Parts: sequence; C-alpha cells; structure tokens
Amino acid sequence: MIGKKLRCSFCGKGEDQVRKLVAGAKAHICDECVAIADRIMKASPDDPGDSPAAKPPSWRVPPK
Ligand SMILES: [Zn+2]
Repeated sequence: MIGKKLRCSFCGKGEDQVRKLVAGAKAHICDECVAIADRIMKASPDDPGDSPAAKPPSWRVPPK
C-alpha cells in the first residue's frame, strides 16, 4: 500500500476502527461486515431478503 489507509468498502471504517480488515482484489471488508454478510448468506432462500433487518442502515454503495 502506498501510505494509504485501508478502509472497509462496505461500511467505510478504517483499518484502525475495526478488529480485522480482509483485503480483496478491489475491495476490503471488515470483520463486522463479514458477520453481516455471513448472516445474509445463511438466510433462507425462501426469505424475500428485503426485510429492513437484513441490511444495516450504514451499508450503502458509495457513489461512483
Ligand atoms: Zn465493514
């Protein structure tokens, strides 16, 4: 890394704000978002998945 602080691509927290930050090819994910993603992945396929509880309010896609 060229002196740039890593950030979770999902919640935007810096690497010093989370316990762990997993680096991917083009994105990073923190342990908190991994836990949330894990919950979503394990959700029943019969679940519509659009319930407000499925996503935290802070989870948003940054505008590009
Ligand atoms: Zn995160």
